Amino acid sequence: MNILITGGAGFIGSNLADKLLEQGHDVFIVDDLSTGRQENIDWINSRSAPAWGVWGRHLCVDISKSFRSQRHGLSLRSQIDSYLQGKKIDQIYHLACPASPPKYYKNPLKTLDINYIGTKNVLEVAKKHKARILFTSTSEIYGDPLDHPQPETYNGNVDPISPRSVYDEGKRVAETLVSQYHRTYGLETKIARVFNTYGPRMDPDDGRVVTNFIKQALNRNLPEVYGDGQQTRSFCYVDDQVSGLIILMNSNEFINEPVNIGNNHEIKIIELLNEICYQIFKKDENCAVHKDLPVSDPKRRCPDLAKMKSIGWHPQIQLREGIQKTIQYIKEELNEKD
Ligand code: UDP
Repeated sequence: MNILITGGAGFIGSNLADKLLEQGHDVFIVDDLSTGRQENIDWINSRSAPAWGVWGRHLCVDISKSFRSQRHGLSLRSQIDSYLQGKKIDQIYHLACPASPPKYYKNPLKTLDINYIGTKNVLEVAKKHKARILFTSTSEIYGDPLDHPQPETYNGNVDPISPRSVYDEGKRVAETLVSQYHRTYGLETKIARVFNTYGPRMDPDDGRVVTNFIKQALNRNLPEVYGDGQQTRSFCYVDDQVSGLIILMNSNEFINEPVNIGNNHEIKIIELLNEICYQIFKKDENCAVHKDLPVSDPKRRCPDLAKMKSIGWHPQIQLREGIQKTIQYIKEELNEKD
């Protein structure tokens, strides 16, 4: 199959590209490298995979620009057309969007544009190619949830004007767009609600809790816990997330229905810190400094996975193993920088 991934140089996108190439597909990556990283896809050029062939380059464009207008040089549509060189795309995974709170706080209006204008542009590509499209939404659409764990039927508790809402509400309106393209044009749409995911190829500097704690502990700095650390998250290892996305994309169940993908092992942030310190220092106690909790930081988060389980998927990698692999990855990244 010919598969397009927007955000394919990002953490989850590049792991997904890797897996799809391994399965023998031709993969086309669109990423403006604003939060995605060139080094995540450098391996593509060095691969001998015949499937990749001449497509050993990715298209570096900002998908939130006007799709048709030619006023400022080539339109986005013609850039994508020339990148695809007449190939018909069968499936699109639309991941492009900054996902880490510090990154979207930095570019709040751009984050809204990527979710609305960017998603509309990608839906237009799907429409033209009659491609099935999977949109990666987020657990953030549940906001600070009052239902626990969160089933897909829960409509969320989101503050529409908090700084965090550019991401939360951006993803919500993108879900609306995706489902309206399904209703209006009969597009085959999938909506994956991605819960916290971690593992190799995360940007060590993107400010997420797993990378921050590991980096701080490895550098012998005191890890910074926001608030009292009693808030919970459920962390999914990236290989599980990627296999979930592929299974959902290829299933004929849940067309245009939101589906949670994540791990349902819920832990407190302070317990995550204990696990990381235990693995790095081989002892139980840890020290931390406490900082203010960011505005609208959700208190609890854990997916109800009944839908994904019904199509034969469940997360397999335990936190201990996943953290071990992530520590190894961060160590290598830090050594490369020295
Ligand atoms: N957090 C923390 N220290 C950090 C980064 C994050 O205590 O250095 C907390 C953050 O306030 C949140 C949780 O860890 O409660 C998860 O944060 P992250 O940004 O990784 O993901 P999200 O908030 O999007 O779930």
